[in-house]
Amino acid sequence: MSIAIDPVCGMEVETTIAQNTFEYEGTVYYFCGKGCRLEFEEDPQHYLDPGYEPSM
Ligand SMILES: [Zn+2]
Repeated sequence: MSIAIDPVCGMEVETTIAQNTFEYEGTVYYFCGKGCRLEFEEDPQHYLDPGYEPSM
């Protein structure tokens, strides 16, 4: 079992069962749901900025 952090909301996502993934610049990101994935796809840089604080 492997856990990734949803970069949008900060939730832990189990990568083996994750259905919402998105590859950006060679890295695969995992999301708790479709909503977070779509938000990330719209503006990846916003969520990857070190100053961004994940929140629900
Ligand atoms: Zn999420």
